[in-house]
Amino acid sequence: MQEFPRYLYRAPFVVTGNGRVIADGAVLTENGLVAAVGSYADLKDVDAQVEDYEGHVITPALVNCHAHLELSYLAGLPGDCPAPGDMVGWIRGLLAARAAHGDVAAQNDASLMALARLYAGGCRAVADIGNREESGLIGGGFKTEVLFFLELLGLCGDSENAALAALAGIDADVRCTAHAPYSAGSALIRALKARAGHALFPMHVAESAQEVEFLRTGSGPFADFLTERGVPVAAFTPPGMGAVRYLDSLGVLDKHTLCVHSVHVEDDEISLLATRGAAVCICPGSNRFMGVGVAPVQKMLAHGIPLVLGTDSLASNPHLSLWWEMQVLREDHPDLPPEVVFAMASVNGARLLGIEDRIGALAPGVSSSLLAVRCPAKTEAEVLDYLTSIGTEISLEWLE
Ligand SMILES: [Zn+2]
Repeated sequence: MQEFPRYLYRAPFVVTGNGRVIADGAVLTENGLVAAVGSYADLKDVDAQVEDYEGHVITPALVNCHAHLELSYLAGLPGDCPAPGDMVGWIRGLLAARAAHGDVAAQNDASLMALARLYAGGCRAVADIGNREESGLIGGGFKTEVLFFLELLGLCGDSENAALAALAGIDADVRCTAHAPYSAGSALIRALKARAGHALFPMHVAESAQEVEFLRTGSGPFADFLTERGVPVAAFTPPGMGAVRYLDSLGVLDKHTLCVHSVHVEDDEISLLATRGAAVCICPGSNRFMGVGVAPVQKMLAHGIPLVLGTDSLASNPHLSLWWEMQVLREDHPDLPPEVVFAMASVNGARLLGIEDRIGALAPGVSSSLLAVRCPAKTEAEVLDYLTSIGTEISLEWLE
C-alpha cells in the first residue's frame, strides 16, 4: 500500500473554475494536491483508488472576498433597513444592537459558528474585516483560511487623529484598512493605503446613495447621523464628488485596491476604476437586503474590471453562502454568463487574495480539497447554470 494514496475522483462533470466543463471528468490527486484533470477516459488507467461521484459535479473550492465574522452575533438583530436604501437607519439599528449585546465570549462563539458555516458551504478562504485586533485570531485551526483586516475609522478632528495615533502602535504584520470614505478622513485613508503598500487594500466604496450625497454635499442623513455621534462634521470638507473619484483624488486607487459594493458609481468612475486597475467586490445579497440598489456589473465587466464576490456580514445578509450570492447576482443580471459568475466566486477571488496557486481553480498543483456538488444537470451547459442559480438549496461534500 502506498504511503500517500492517489485518488481518482470521477463525476459526470468536472468544472475547472475558469468556465470549462469536462463531461465524464476525473481529477487525480496525490499528496494533497491535484495531479491531473481531464476526461475519465484519459485518466482511467492511472494507478489510483477510484472514487465515483455519480450525480455530482466536482468543482474547486469557493472564495469569499468580503465578510465581517465579528458581526455574526448580530445576525438579524439590526433588523431590515427602515426604508429601502436607508443605510444610516440600518447603522443606527446596528449600533443599538451592538450596545445591547456586549458579551465578547458570545460574540467570538458566533464568529466561529459563522466560519464553520462558510466551510460547510464550500468556502475555503475569506477576506474578513473586523474592528478588534484579536478577531484576527479567529481562523486559527480552521480549514477555511481567514485573511483578517483590522478596519480603522475616524473622519476628522480628534477621531481621525486618534485613529492615526492608534495606527502607529499596531504591529506591522497586522493588515489594516479604512472603513469607508464617509467614516475615515483623507489623512487616515492615505496613511492606511501607504502602510498597505502592495498588499490588498479593501474598502467599502459607494455602497449607498446616502454616502454619495454626503461626499458631494456634506449634508443629508449621514451628516445628521455623524453629528448625533459627536463627530464635528463641519470640520470635514466634503470632496464634492463621488466616492471613486474622491479616492482617486487621494491617490489610493490602484491594482491592489478592492472597492467593496461600488453600487453608486458614475460611468466616468467605472472608467477610472478600470484605468487604475482596481478590483470590485460585489455583495449582491447584502445590497438586496439593504435595498441600496444593484451594482453596474455589466459595465464593469465591459471595462475589464476584476470582479469578485463577498457575502458581507450576517447583520446585513440572512445567508453566509457564496451560492446565494451567485443566485442573487444572476437574478439581478439575467444576462451574465454563468461561467463569469462562477469565476467571481472561485478563481477570481483566489487570484485577488493571492492564493490562486492553491485554491479557487481546478488545475495541477492546487490543493486537492475540492467540492463534490450534487447536481442533476444532464448537459455541460446545464451544469454552470445549475451551480449559479441553486443558491441555498446546494448540497455538497468536501473531497479532501
Ligand atoms: Zn462590509
